[in-house]
Amino acid sequence: MSDKGFDVAVIGEGVSGLTAAGQLAERGFSVATFERELFGGLVLNVNELRPGLQGEKISGSELTSGMMERNLERGVSSVQEQVTAIEPQNGRWAIVTTGGRYIARQVILAAGARLKKLGVPGEEEYAGRGVSHCASCDGPMNVGTPVVVVGGGDSALQEALVLAEFASKVVLVHRRGEFRGREEFARQVLEHPKIEVFWSATVRAIGGDKVVRHVQVVHGDGRREQVACTGFFAYIGLQPNTEGLASSMESSVDGHVVTNERMETSLPGIWAVGAVRSGYGGELTHAVAEATAAAKAVAERLAQPV
Ligand code: NAP
Repeated sequence: MSDKGFDVAVIGEGVSGLTAAGQLAERGFSVATFERELFGGLVLNVNELRPGLQGEKISGSELTSGMMERNLERGVSSVQEQVTAIEPQNGRWAIVTTGGRYIARQVILAAGARLKKLGVPGEEEYAGRGVSHCASCDGPMNVGTPVVVVGGGDSALQEALVLAEFASKVVLVHRRGEFRGREEFARQVLEHPKIEVFWSATVRAIGGDKVVRHVQVVHGDGRREQVACTGFFAYIGLQPNTEGLASSMESSVDGHVVTNERMETSLPGIWAVGAVRSGYGGELTHAVAEATAAAKAVAERLAQPV
């Protein structure tokens, strides 16, 4: 079993994790990033980003591929193993993974979050056959046909607008009578000729043959309706990826890790950034800003006499 040591272990190779790892490696610290899936995180669901001031568009996978490449050039070790526990060990932290055990002086939890599932019949069965979480990737599969989106937050509003570029019609099903998402997105959705909002309504089932053909909707007054569609996209919030990692840290009721303003958790030496953190703003710029703040604070902590 390996027992390799690093100054900093960063858990998660999404935008926040890659940013923090790169900045710490640039400052001369030895850094390892740990990832159980493909690097990139939530931003892989986005096909058009404008991270620079010049306004040029790149995809989430292009952005994070570039970050990975630069990190490897800076000497960051990328460990493709799932972290199952973080344990204290002689004033340091042991990172226990499916492939071994690693020691780090400081740990940055950047494990991100995943999109919640609605939990209705047909959602698993039709995954990849009409049920999707990526509007920009799978929008082109619905050119000229209707799609259904669920949710009333920024994600649902923004992705409904993306899907309206391809679909003949977007039915946006929201469980309440007002949106949670920002006014600017809400206005664009309400004014869009191709988007119809079903207020106070819920999707109860997804059906079809080999692919999605319709969803069952129940309206607030109890009326049932079968809505024809070829695509189904639920954007009902994020579930933090904290399994096995945060049980001894202070967390919010919905499982996000609580930190102070320096991004340090209730366990000194463990920091949290990005979508796993309670209070995360949800935008790419927030992920980068949090990672930058944590990298600076971790560098200062590492410079202190032990
Ligand atoms: P969110 O803000 O938590 O909104 C989730 C939406 O789904 C809410 O409207 C909620 O309804 C609804 N919902 C939750 N559970 C449901 C269920 N079981 N059945 C039906 N509807 C359900 O999630 P999000 O939109 O993914 O946004 C997450 C974070 O990322 C937010 O901070 C957001 O601001 C940020 N974000 C920012 C941008 C951007 O700035 N460009 C884009 C996307 C996301 P209720 O309203 O009734 O609770």
